[in-house]
Amino acid sequence: MPRNAESIAFRSALEVIRGVEPRVADAIGAELADQRESLKLIASENYASPATLLAMGNWFSDKYAEGTIGRRFYAGCQNVDTVEALAAEHARELFGASHAYVQPHSGIDANLVAFWAILADRVEAPALQRAQARHVNDLTEADWFALRRELGDQRMLGMSLDAGGHLTHGFRPNISGKMFDQRSYGTDPATGLVDYDRVAEAAREFRPLVLVAGYSAYPRKINFRIMREIADSVGATFMVDMAHFAGLVAGKVFTGDFDPVPHAHIVTSTTHKSLRGPRGGLVLCGPELADQVDRGCPMVLGGPLPHVMAAKAVALAEARRPDFAGYARQIVDNAQALAEGLLRRGATLVTGGTDNHLVLIDVTGYGLTGRQAEQALLDSGIVTNRNAVPQDPNGAWYTSGIRIGTPALTTRGLGTAEMDTTAELIHTVLSQTSAGVGPDGTASKAKYVLDPALADKVSRQASELLTGFPLYPDVELG
Ligand code: PLP
Repeated sequence: MPRNAESIAFRSALEVIRGVEPRVADAIGAELADQRESLKLIASENYASPATLLAMGNWFSDKYAEGTIGRRFYAGCQNVDTVEALAAEHARELFGASHAYVQPHSGIDANLVAFWAILADRVEAPALQRAQARHVNDLTEADWFALRRELGDQRMLGMSLDAGGHLTHGFRPNISGKMFDQRSYGTDPATGLVDYDRVAEAAREFRPLVLVAGYSAYPRKINFRIMREIADSVGATFMVDMAHFAGLVAGKVFTGDFDPVPHAHIVTSTTHKSLRGPRGGLVLCGPELADQVDRGCPMVLGGPLPHVMAAKAVALAEARRPDFAGYARQIVDNAQALAEGLLRRGATLVTGGTDNHLVLIDVTGYGLTGRQAEQALLDSGIVTNRNAVPQDPNGAWYTSGIRIGTPALTTRGLGTAEMDTTAELIHTVLSQTSAGVGPDGTASKAKYVLDPALADKVSRQASELLTGFPLYPDVELG
């Protein structure tokens, strides 16, 4: 492949787009420039490969393919069958699962598919069976009412949002909190760690149909063997949402008790975080749940996104290459170096460190809310996101935490030495930022004071740090 093939591909694409709506072409170019210049520490983001990105920009996007491989509700799906089968095969091989369903458009969709599959498997529900036999658009109000009545008292036990769980693990405003009678388990207030005895106790008391493990902001490993034992002890179906750490499972950093696939009845994931693929989701399971999972359409999904399934096949093939294991190991080494660098400079970290790809800084130690810290860091060229910490006094909007993750910078090639410099930049900004006051003179949770000259200086240092690690080095847009 000529070295400039990627440049030619992306430049040509932009030229074609520019011919129709130049502002879109400009925004795409500007996004690449922004991503190249900023220190991206958002734990849920990454940089997909050019092959993965290019697999999405084509005529597969035009094709309807409701149904499953070889059993579609539309004609002419033979090429979609090819890419869906390839993506599923790569997913099965990569994770050692007997069944993979690669149609979910996102992590939330994957979780909804899993919930419906579990309900359909476990609950005697005539209305659910009727609903499954039809297209979701054909369900009447009466059907939905009967369904809600039948399913309304099923129970889910998941990790609470402020302990690091996800919205879809039963958070009340989310559909999962409405589908299920929900209770959550938190973490030990002294250590910040999951206390398996307490999870077992909650399971014994609550007797959930579904026990969910997985997280968006928990910086430690979870022992899935123990969680499965807890689920078995109360007859629950054990589901793991590995959206955040799928890359660490794929790269064999999380093995044995920490690999969810051999322990869970059903595993869901996104494909775009540490796994480094296109935006999307997938579900893995054994033969017992496979038929129900394959009914994702019509229960939850309409037509799949064949162009994204093509990109999933490419990214999963990449993750099966031997070098992906080195990448996954480096993600964790980098997160640990970042955590150590922050701790050495006096930061407070939830659980005191990390064993995965993310670090959660409790910024109340700097006298800030998460919102103030997030914005001050952004002013300084460091992109992070605010996040609740356990028992957060500032709630889910302002928060007391900053979540940082290493999958994206590791893709760029930064290593542990650069993580120490990154820790220095973060600490400099946070220790030099102070809380501002609101119009009535009281302490504000949003306003902050940071010398713009310092923010500029850190921004320059951040881009200098990145100069040795070009993003998409073979893409020159001119
Ligand atoms: N599950 C977990 C654990 C997540 O962290 C996320 C995303 O943040 C999701 C599910 C949802 O993924 P998506 O944004 O693709 O719907």
